[in-house]
Amino acid sequence: TTFKDLGLAETILNALAHEGYDSPTPIQAKAIPVVRSGRDVLGIAQTGTGKTAAFVLPQLDRMAGDRKTAAAKTATVLILAPTRELANQIADAITTYGRALKPSVAVVIGGAKPGPQVRAMARGVDFLVATPGRLLDHMETGAITLSGVRTVILDEADQMLDLGFLPAIRRILEKAPKQRQTLLFSATMPKLIRKLASDFLHNPEEIAV
Ligand code: AMP
Repeated sequence: TTFKDLGLAETILNALAHEGYDSPTPIQAKAIPVVRSGRDVLGIAQTGTGKTAAFVLPQLDRMAGDRKTAAAKTATVLILAPTRELANQIADAITTYGRALKPSVAVVIGGAKPGPQVRAMARGVDFLVATPGRLLDHMETGAITLSGVRTVILDEADQMLDLGFLPAIRRILEKAPKQRQTLLFSATMPKLIRKLASDFLHNPEEIAV
């Protein structure tokens, strides 16, 4: 399989060529078509398998399509990650793969001053990358609402569980619009993550690499 076979937009193929990526990794080849189909995904993949691009590329591809047809402003993609470092890495990947599309990305993480984060959200963003605790804080003060979110991605769900974020994740998912696509990635599938998936994912396709 090539990235072109996966049907990704030209601007994204160009960015991947620029990064020197010859072909999709197994998780990318399996997940990208399913994500594009609109189905929920339960992905079992370790760090280093290329899972970030597996969930970021189809989002950018959708954005490219929306911009071409001059559709209304693209809905926000919410990505939850366990740590500031991972959240920043994901934001960097979005900017790199999406460079021709210039997606707006807000990062909401513990330790960062809330001012600029909240101002970025007020303008509406294409991607909101957040750690669960900090995002929930902003939701509770009313600074951030999730009404524009149509896709929720949980990255490294087992790590978020280990860090005690499960209650925050459940609160966030309960508040997110019901009409959405949900993708959950985890290196391992402990019982509580299986339960989270069965409570919040709708008929997910399970993908393991
Ligand atoms: P991840 O598993 O998302 O942390 O990605 C691991 C590393 O693989 C990152 O440094 C990516 O830049 C790189 N990578 C992702 N997809 C590909 C690909 N298709 N070909 C080569 N490298 C890739």
